[in-house]
Amino acid sequence: MRSFVATMEQAARIYLKPGKEHSLQRKHPWVFSGAIGRIEGEPKDGDTVYVYSAKGDSLGTGHYALGSIAVRIFAFEEVQADETFWVKKISDAALLRGQLGFLDNPETNMFRLVHGEGDGMPGCIIDIYGHTAVIQTHTLGMYRHREVIAQAIVKALPNVVNVYDRGKEKIGQRSNEKVGSYLIGQAEGMDGLEHGCRFLIDWEQGQKTGFFLDQRENRKLLGEMSKGKRVLNTFCYTGGFSIYALRHGALEVHSLDSSQPALDLAREHASINGFDERSHKTICADAVSYMRDLNESYDIIVLDPPAFAKNVGAKHKAIQAYIRINAAAMRNVKSGGFLFTFSCSQVIDTKLFRDSVMAAGIQAGRTMRITHQLHQPADHPVSLFHPEGEYLKGLVIQIL
Ligand code: SAH
Repeated sequence: MRSFVATMEQAARIYLKPGKEHSLQRKHPWVFSGAIGRIEGEPKDGDTVYVYSAKGDSLGTGHYALGSIAVRIFAFEEVQADETFWVKKISDAALLRGQLGFLDNPETNMFRLVHGEGDGMPGCIIDIYGHTAVIQTHTLGMYRHREVIAQAIVKALPNVVNVYDRGKEKIGQRSNEKVGSYLIGQAEGMDGLEHGCRFLIDWEQGQKTGFFLDQRENRKLLGEMSKGKRVLNTFCYTGGFSIYALRHGALEVHSLDSSQPALDLAREHASINGFDERSHKTICADAVSYMRDLNESYDIIVLDPPAFAKNVGAKHKAIQAYIRINAAAMRNVKSGGFLFTFSCSQVIDTKLFRDSVMAAGIQAGRTMRITHQLHQPADHPVSLFHPEGEYLKGLVIQIL
């Protein structure tokens, strides 16, 4: 049987068309199928391949995939992708998280260990929840390396004793099969801490790897601005922003989502953090309809919708949706209050997002100013040469 960890002799060699080597030489990790001149060998989806310029200069090693991104480079040189290689990758990722203060932090025991291209591992996300690592792979190549990556994680992080694999749910044609399984150890969720806020994490059933770790610093900022305020947290999921607001002394927090199970957990999160229905109310509704019919004003509204545009084709509709929800929210913020508005769509860049929010502002017809420009936190790093990795954008807007 042919091993998927190809040896240099077995692996296919991909030669680019003349002039197509520049982006790889500049360390951008994607090879588009149109850039390929010829292939030696017959690579299949998920195989490790070597990439060369038309003249035969080595450009890197990556995973082959069917689709417009034909190769995702994980090393800008020829390497053997064996256990030693992945241990070094994971150790490098762990080193940064140590520098950022995430290892042995008494206030926060959940963080992202590997953020795809930002950690030189395209197609792979690894989040750490206490003693458990959760792997989510988006390419068949990374999926096939999951076991060796799991071993590398427990070697690099002595604190981690369980590794859960979320399975192939996002690979290729969207299959609904839930094939999550423990690669090492086993654990039943976790009572996690983020800046001292308690959250119950279920990496088997929850969205993404169980929690949206990327909003950590933005939630903290919201908390710091919430004392004595009435806050509406729309698209709240399990109440991340709400708990920070409550813990920082918000007068009243309303958590809104279209998913009742998410709201049940939001209520439980409020409860384990010491708050009940006197200060925290959940609302199961569609965010836009709710805000359109709203007569009450809030001091702060949070808008953190799911990625409206998952691909370039959906961009136009997504922009219309951002304008609609932002305009509806802007009308319901008290004078002097704030709107926290976000987009996590990769195809909507910072400028386009800001322009959409501006279009909403024109519709709402109120005077506004930007006080904060927000983004993903440092444990979600972005390769300087792969700006596509910058996906989370946010603005705090004061509405006068
Ligand atoms: N802010 C959250 C993450 C939001 S994820 C956090 O900090 O953890 C997006 C959420 O939007 C999901 O929980 C989903 O159920 C919800 N959602 C999707 N469409 C919605 C709609 N039309 N109205 C209200 N909620 C919606």
